[in-house]
Formats: sequence, structure tokens, C-alpha cells
Amino acid sequence: MIYRGRFAPSPTGPLHLGNARTALLAWLAARAARGTLVIRVEDLDRPRVRPGVEARLLDELRWLGLGWDEGPDLGGPCGPYRQSELGWRHQAAVRRLRDAGLAYPCFCSRAEIAQAAQAPHGPADDGPRYPGTCRDLAPAEVARRAAERTPAWRFRVEPGQVAFEDAVHGTCRFDVAATTGDFVVMRADGVAAYQLAVVVDDAAMGITEVVRGDDLLPSTARQLLLHGALGLPAPRHAHVPLVVGEDGARLAKRHGARSLGELREAGVAPEAVIGLLAALCGLAPGGARCTASELVVGFAWERLPREPARLPAGALAAPAR
Ligand code: GLU
Repeated sequence: MIYRGRFAPSPTGPLHLGNARTALLAWLAARAARGTLVIRVEDLDRPRVRPGVEARLLDELRWLGLGWDEGPDLGGPCGPYRQSELGWRHQAAVRRLRDAGLAYPCFCSRAEIAQAAQAPHGPADDGPRYPGTCRDLAPAEVARRAAERTPAWRFRVEPGQVAFEDAVHGTCRFDVAATTGDFVVMRADGVAAYQLAVVVDDAAMGITEVVRGDDLLPSTARQLLLHGALGLPAPRHAHVPLVVGEDGARLAKRHGARSLGELREAGVAPEAVIGLLAALCGLAPGGARCTASELVVGFAWERLPREPARLPAGALAAPAR
């Protein structure tokens, strides 16, 4: 069976232990299956993209021993591997949805639509359910408004549940119509929303396995609706639990968690970081030091706990050389 996995970071901030753990798992799953690993840089949220972050991120992944087979620096048969260079493909997909009557122009507030470019990080970021304000505008009304303002485009969600199997969480069900409603696939400025870009690019890159944080589980339901509407093959999914602080709250500075760059500069060895990440996945005992390659043989999704991984206070606080 062909395995094409990917790690899809957004170059908006430094790599921290949470996304490094996701990268490790995407890498392990691909290597254990003797598959291909693709890096795709998700840089559509231009105002949040910071110069130099992409190069640093790739450098830090290599430092951890997590190499890839195709990516923005290596190229490959499915390039380019940066979403900002793939606008033409996203636009073509939105045209197809529009021509099929599956997407409609939306003139609602910019603030509401602006958040569509970035990957949501938890229910709060998803905003309230869209009430359908622009769903059934008469053609004349659309023409009148479009003369004043370029619309965004929303995908029409039909009632019903979306179910899928997740390698970590088992059967998952979401009612997108009831919780999210019609969602934005393209902003008024012509930039694709995260949900659309991921679907189109995963399919175009032949991705068969998506490994990412489980804060994106609800997004998967939306993405599967788009896969269906566009007639694109859907990948399999493994949503990995987030890394949280010892108190169970989302990792923050107050937990003393340092970015990968900070750990590296402090002289922490990559084997100590991989050992900690593996311990956070139940793949190694606490305090272990190892390379990513050493973990391939023992890797299995069944070993990964479904609960968030708690980062022990003071983990990697002192340089472990
Ligand atoms: N770019 C997203 C992030 O960094 C991940 C999206 C995905 O894996 O589908 O949060």
C-alpha cells in the first residue's frame, strides 16, 4: 500500500515541543510504513508569516533527525510545496464549487472572514455558527452588492453527520451544519481558507495519511465534506493529542516550556528532546535519550494515549548534553 504522509507547519512562530511531537509522529508513521514524507509549508496567513521562520523550522527538524523526502527546499514531483505559491490551484477548486452551486458569495464582515486563512486552534477560534445570512440572496441582490464589494465564498453545508475513523481517536462524528454551518472557502482578497487549501493540496500531493494535532479534529469533518464535493480522494487521519502543561492547560511560557530553538541554544542534545517527545507519546520511558530512528521499530498508533500529554514541570530545564 502506498503511504504518503505530510507534516504541514505554518511558519508563524518558532517550533515548540507540541509541534515537534506532531512532526516526530508524522515522521515515525511514514518511516514505519516505508512511505514518503512531504513537508508542506502553510503560509497563507500572510500577516502572521514571519520571515526566516520557515528556514529555521526546517533546520530544527533536521537537527532532531526528522528528514523528509519532498519539500520546499528539496523540491519533488508534487511541488511547489508552499501554499502561497498554489493560489491558482485553490482558485480553480473554488470555481468548481461555485459552478456546481456548492459555494455562494458572502458579503459578511471582514473580521469574521479574516480568520478563515489560519488553521483553527480550538473551538473558540472557529467562531459562532454562521447563520446563513448570504445563503439565499437573490441574483439581483448579489449583483448589486458585488458592484460595491468583492465577496468571500462560502461552502454550502447540508444537514447531517460526518463520520470518520481516526487512528488515535477511533470513530469520530461531527455535525458540521449544526455547529459551524456554511464555512468560508475563499476570502474576498482571493486567498483560500485553510480548510479548502488543505484539501486541495493534500489531494494534489497524493497524501494518503494526515497526522496533526487533535485540535483540528472538527476541521477534518469540514475537509471531508470538501473532498466529497470536489470528488477528491480523502486521506486517512491520525490526530495526536496536544502537549499540555503539568496543570493540564495549554502550554505557555509560564510552564517554562522553551521553543526548540531555545533548547538547542541552551545546549540540550537532540537525543534528549526526542527522548522527551517519545516519553510524551508513551513510546519510551521518562528520561530516555534516543534518536528518532531507534523508535521506528516499536512505533504503533495503538501505543499512543488519547489523552493530552502532560509536560512534566522542569522537563529539559537543565542542559542535558
Ligand atoms: N498548518 C497547520 C498548523 O500548523 C496544520 C494543518 C494540518 O496539518 O492540516 O497548525
